[in-house]
Amino acid sequence: MARPKPTVTPAGAARQAYRVAPGVAEAVARYVLPERLGFGLVTAPVMYRADWAEGEWGAGTLTPYGMIEIAPGARALHYSELVFEGLKAYRVGRDWPNLFRPLDNWRRLARSAERLAMPVVPEALFLEALDAVAGACAPVIPGRSGQALYLRPFLFGTESGYLLRNSTTFSFMVIANPVEAYASGALRVTIERADVRAAVGGVGATKAAANYAPSLRASSAALARGYTVALWLDAREHRLIQELSGMNLFAVFGGALHTPSLDGAILPGITRDSLIALARDQGLEVVERPLPIDELLAAIGDGRCSEVFACGTAAIVAPIGVLAEADGREHAPRAVDVVAARLREALLAIQERRAPDPHGWTRDVARPPAA
Ligand SMILES: *Cc1c(COP(=O)(O)O)cnc(C)c1O
Repeated sequence: MARPKPTVTPAGAARQAYRVAPGVAEAVARYVLPERLGFGLVTAPVMYRADWAEGEWGAGTLTPYGMIEIAPGARALHYSELVFEGLKAYRVGRDWPNLFRPLDNWRRLARSAERLAMPVVPEALFLEALDAVAGACAPVIPGRSGQALYLRPFLFGTESGYLLRNSTTFSFMVIANPVEAYASGALRVTIERADVRAAVGGVGATKAAANYAPSLRASSAALARGYTVALWLDAREHRLIQELSGMNLFAVFGGALHTPSLDGAILPGITRDSLIALARDQGLEVVERPLPIDELLAAIGDGRCSEVFACGTAAIVAPIGVLAEADGREHAPRAVDVVAARLREALLAIQERRAPDPHGWTRDVARPPAA
């Protein structure tokens, strides 16, 4: 069967500015930030959308947040023809927000789209969408340290049909959520030794929606047992640590930071990459290597591994309090949130522009074009 040809719109191609639909200013003016934000529970007042048809992207539109219509047979719904991103806009102690490494999110979205043979969202369109949503929401972005506006860009196939090929029509959207500092204590992790999240050659290294469905059974079981999240092992031998369902993992051995090397199925987290750089800036040794689960548990047992933590845009850096087997045996690192706390503060200070940004990671949200 002939593969559909991926249709790639050149990155950075000049394009027309987005439209602002009626009601956007009113939706922002009416918006009241609730007391409790949680993570993804509260929606921002606006959203952005651009559609792709006949080989090109149409102009984007910023609208009040609301329901969308989708054909019940759309391939996004049946075949998971959907890729997404996640990043935050920070506005701590200032009136205008900044983003953190948005071009890395764009590059990853492009790689995800290419893996699924979907059209690539041009860099300019991606940035325009983030600027439109974060700019319009600026007055309602919560401003305490740790709080942010979480931005969720996503690209999905909208054409109906059961033939196993790509859609010929797509939508790119950005929705957003004001979010709280993630502070639910140390993570309680279950080691998943039966189910598999992602195999080399599959889509694990991309932010494809298809990665998360296989993790739901283990996640739900973990929650039902009083744990927070599942830890995934490699698909072939169930021996090497991959990552948590939505976070990468680090372990502290002596003075060094160890993290599983990207094996082709692990999601290359931007937080992971940032922590590696920050740790090296601080003079810490960082080792990327295959990390067997049994070695980690033995090292926690005899103290060679003092601390384990997770990282991702949502949680930033989250300490791990315990790793548990299905039979209930628990392994608790002796230190919780020591190295993790130091790295979290260093990263957050850059993200929130409270510290110098030697790597040039932050970027101002563009001011909206004058009306
Ligand atoms: C998004 C995600 C991460 C973290 O990536 P960041 O770029 O740091 O937010 C890690 N693992 C999985 C499976 C993810 O989906």
